Amino acid sequence: MMNDLDMDFPTFEPGWVWLVGAGPGDPGLLTLHALHALKSADVIVHDALVDDRILAMAPKSAVLESMGKRGGKASPKQTEITARLIDLAKQGKRVLRLKGGDPFVFGRGPEEAEALVAEQISFRVVPGITAGIAGLAYAGIPVTAKATNSAVAFVTGHSETGEVPDSLDWHALAKSAAVVVVYMPMRHLEGIRSKFLAAGRSPDEAAAIVSKACTPEQEVLETTIGTCVEDAAKAGMKPPSLLVIGEVVRLRETLSWWTP
Ligand code: SAH
Repeated sequence: MMNDLDMDFPTFEPGWVWLVGAGPGDPGLLTLHALHALKSADVIVHDALVDDRILAMAPKSAVLESMGKRGGKASPKQTEITARLIDLAKQGKRVLRLKGGDPFVFGRGPEEAEALVAEQISFRVVPGITAGIAGLAYAGIPVTAKATNSAVAFVTGHSETGEVPDSLDWHALAKSAAVVVVYMPMRHLEGIRSKFLAAGRSPDEAAAIVSKACTPEQEVLETTIGTCVEDAAKAGMKPPSLLVIGEVVRLRETLSWWTP
């Protein structure tokens, strides 16, 4: 397939690590560089968010290693993952570190790259389509629209310690960003709601939760800031999910285009 594309791809050299984004699910959202990397890698160290249909595109000769952090489940420590990447690279393998979405968006990609630099291991970054943009698009929700917002904020609902991140000035965020997309929102939905309401956002403001976006199991819950916790529980929304707050959610009425 790659030969049909009149394009030169960078050579995946032995001993290199490529940090690659796999997008949020639908294999069609892979970049050409990501597909090339999948076809050339010796070892693919992937996280739990990478869609099975994408892993199935790897050649039989490639070794697949599942190594990812997943909220609530036993998962390898970040230091173990980094040590494994370094070890494989030092063995002279072509190491593909494959992550859901974009490797530099809430995905520990920067930390892994820093560790490679410290060991003088060469690396390349292949950005991916992040869930906060593509996942919402597949739910018929644009992240910006002229009539509603000229800014959008991407935030994480989950800190290193597993709490609602305190390092974030939620008050300032709620005041300044008309549209807020929250990654990893589910564990602290109630806390997140309180922060937005305390900052003066209306309980009637539109919100949505998009679960397993861009996959055959995608589910979209249209709700409001005030009722999102109860509505999500009632609907049994499962991770991975995104929460989006803002009037853009109402565009879904006209723009919902995809049925999984
Ligand atoms: N690097 C990833 C984000 C990793 S953090 C990216 O750029 O998309 C993990 C969080 O991403 C999940 O908890 C969820 O909030 C979000 N996420 C990733 N894939 C998703 C999907 N297919 N559907 C909904 N949310 C997703």
